[in-house]
Amino acid sequence: MNDHDLTDVVSPYNDASGREGALTTEDFLSAEGSLGFATQSIRAGSFRSDQREHSEAIYLTSSFVYDSAAQAQAVFAGDEDGNVYSRYTNPSLRMLEERMAILEGGALENIEACATSSGMAAILGACMGLLKSGDHVICSRSVFGTTFTIFSKYLDKFGVKTTFVDLVDYQQWRDAIRPETKLLFLETPSNPLSEVADLKQLAEIAHGNGALLMVDNCFCTPALQKPLLLGADLVVHSATKYIDGQGRCLGGMVIGRKKLVDEVHLWQRAAGATMSPFNAWVFYKGLETLSVRMDAHCRNASELAIWLSQHKAVEKVHYSGLSNHPGHELAKKQQTGFGGVLAFEVIGGRESAWKVIDGVEIMSRTANLGDTRTTITHPATTTHCRLSDEDKMKSGITESLIRVAAGLEDIEDLKRDLDKGLKQLL
Ligand SMILES: *Cc1c(COP(=O)(O)O)cnc(C)c1O
Repeated sequence: MNDHDLTDVVSPYNDASGREGALTTEDFLSAEGSLGFATQSIRAGSFRSDQREHSEAIYLTSSFVYDSAAQAQAVFAGDEDGNVYSRYTNPSLRMLEERMAILEGGALENIEACATSSGMAAILGACMGLLKSGDHVICSRSVFGTTFTIFSKYLDKFGVKTTFVDLVDYQQWRDAIRPETKLLFLETPSNPLSEVADLKQLAEIAHGNGALLMVDNCFCTPALQKPLLLGADLVVHSATKYIDGQGRCLGGMVIGRKKLVDEVHLWQRAAGATMSPFNAWVFYKGLETLSVRMDAHCRNASELAIWLSQHKAVEKVHYSGLSNHPGHELAKKQQTGFGGVLAFEVIGGRESAWKVIDGVEIMSRTANLGDTRTTITHPATTTHCRLSDEDKMKSGITESLIRVAAGLEDIEDLKRDLDKGLKQLL
């Protein structure tokens, strides 16, 4: 197989055959307005093989076969629909991509999605597909630690320079613009303090200067926020989190206008940052419960935030669902829920925070999130440990800060679990 030739001749979105009777992307787009988000997340993108399975099959195969040499030629040339090799296209990935494109894009036309092997592969892939040496990026300082590494170390090595700015200081974003600025990148709400950035305003700043706006929508998922509808050009995901929902598989997604996502798909076909078909199936099935799970995550996080803000051992709670949070009004406008992640500061310093973390018996002491299981972390010594003391101060990552990603357990059990450690501080 001559790899190079394949990359050039096969269109990235060659659809698999055997989709009779299935609802297609077009059906969903034309039915927009009559089909709700939950229906879309359960029904969109689905297709059936000739075995008539109800739950979608997992296409665990590296390559695909043809009835004749002539058919192989037609498929390789892109004259006939069909799959060639799972690094290029695979029906399990295609189902996930179509479903995610609908969920993030709503009624927008020409939205495509590209599945990748992890969230980091999605971010790197979008940059590799769309940037080149000499380009400039502006990135929020409050992004996932490894995202910071990708921009500050690896892209920098290839001549793409990044300026880091305060997420909610729009003047800093404006001041950082240069003629060669091609990309603005951020996460909203931020981790762990739930700061909320105004996507419409950032889209204006980006587009006014011919740059793209890319949003990591991992914390909200399209169930709570659709950045593309607010002006973003690209959305990236760590599917590892809420899209899976049970902490099993690594995966990522890039979603945006077809013209942009095609470039990402072509890069990833060449680079091989491909999602496993098994993982694609797990995410695909995960999306079917996304609506109800996100509602429940938000409910548990809100209840914990309210309860914690009345606790004598707690100094401050950071959750945009609380009316005293600086991002509250914007979150109400831009999101349909406040999310499952909250942070709080206890009285005392690191020792107190660790006491609470070591005291829990139900919550998991791990930095992951988006799981049915509630997780608890000390950001200053784990997720944000590589920041200098000065940067920690600037970003509000104090020694007394604890992050909780609310899972789906009974709320009273979660309160009792936290209270064990908190009581020791009084
Ligand atoms: C976890 C995470 C990532 C990276 O995703 P992986 O699937 O671990 O590669 C990127 N962004 C955010 C906000 C995350 O939480």
